[in-house]
Amino acid sequence: MFRATRAEVRLSKIRNNMVKIRHTLPETVKLMAVVKADGYGHGDAEAARMAEQAGADVLAVAYLNEALRLRSKGITLPILILTPIYPQEIMFALEHDLMLTVTSAEWFKEMRAYRHHSCGKPLKVHVKLDTGLGRLGMKTREEWEELVPWLKADDVIVDGFYTHFATAGKEDTTFMKRQYSRFLDMMGWCEDSGVHVNLYHCAGSAAALRFPELAMDMVRIGAAMFGFYPERLVSSVRLEPALSLYSSLMQVKLLRKGECIGYDNSYQAKEDEWIGTVPIGYADGWSQSLQGTEMLVNGQRVPVVGKICMDQLMVRLPGPCEPGTEVALIGAQGEDCITFAELAAHLGSVPQEISTAISSRVTRIYKE
Ligand SMILES: *Cc1c(COP(=O)(O)O)cnc(C)c1O
Repeated sequence: MFRATRAEVRLSKIRNNMVKIRHTLPETVKLMAVVKADGYGHGDAEAARMAEQAGADVLAVAYLNEALRLRSKGITLPILILTPIYPQEIMFALEHDLMLTVTSAEWFKEMRAYRHHSCGKPLKVHVKLDTGLGRLGMKTREEWEELVPWLKADDVIVDGFYTHFATAGKEDTTFMKRQYSRFLDMMGWCEDSGVHVNLYHCAGSAAALRFPELAMDMVRIGAAMFGFYPERLVSSVRLEPALSLYSSLMQVKLLRKGECIGYDNSYQAKEDEWIGTVPIGYADGWSQSLQGTEMLVNGQRVPVVGKICMDQLMVRLPGPCEPGTEVALIGAQGEDCITFAELAAHLGSVPQEISTAISSRVTRIYKE
């Protein structure tokens, strides 16, 4: 079935980005590829395969169903689930060889009732610490002391101990340094308690690229694999986005001066104007908040005018154009390029919000 609106994913870019990142880090540092949210919208298994080819040691996803989906697609690398799963779901994790994030003794207590020992496999966990993001993790020594007996059980392997930074992409490093030093203190808890931990890790993309000295035993790379990183603050590598988004004009019409288009008459022509309809809307993940951004038609920038509809939107063209003319929504056309960065700036958000929002209605076309 043909639809003009399609996302093109260049697999070699994902692989090359990961290879470049690998080279900025000491060789002993392990590489975890974070492919949650369908590989930041690029395809989970496709991204996982490219990461593996580039030397990734481990994968991570946010939720259990994402991990199961990767397994069902034949992905065999170890997978860490970054959000605690429900204790009731423990057997899925054991059967599919998944590593779990734990943040409390309570979880272990509840989980016991659901764990069948017949499978005989040890449970691999990564303990998550909250050093200032305030999202998930243990904060206090008391919480840790309660967890210790559970971690020391024969059938539990503490594969990791980790935290996540709140401000790694910000120029000011004060808060990040505070989180880092808090984490170093917490690492001391493991030694004091005699809990053996395989891997300590704290850095996501921005921290790993800006401060390789914070890499510890492993870095968790998501955004940067897809070319999203704080370019201004990173001089060691140049990464490239892998996804571009194209469509084509469905209909072109002349709008007379004073006529309105769009829901709620949201745009009124100031003079006679050529308007093109593009078959993409907010149900494809092209948010109404992107009204006022630009696209490329024949290599020229054209503004999105009027409210973005569920399935279509309108652009103001410099003149008459053939229906079927290609429209670049993200990526290059002619000499110009619409970047994730400019769209994200318009939204007051980050590039990965745009790539993850592109819905399943938009076919991903994979190219080497
Ligand atoms: C999503 C996530 C990452 C990856 O972050 P990027 O900035 O995309 O590299 C790393 N760690 C945790 C805990 C995450 O949730």
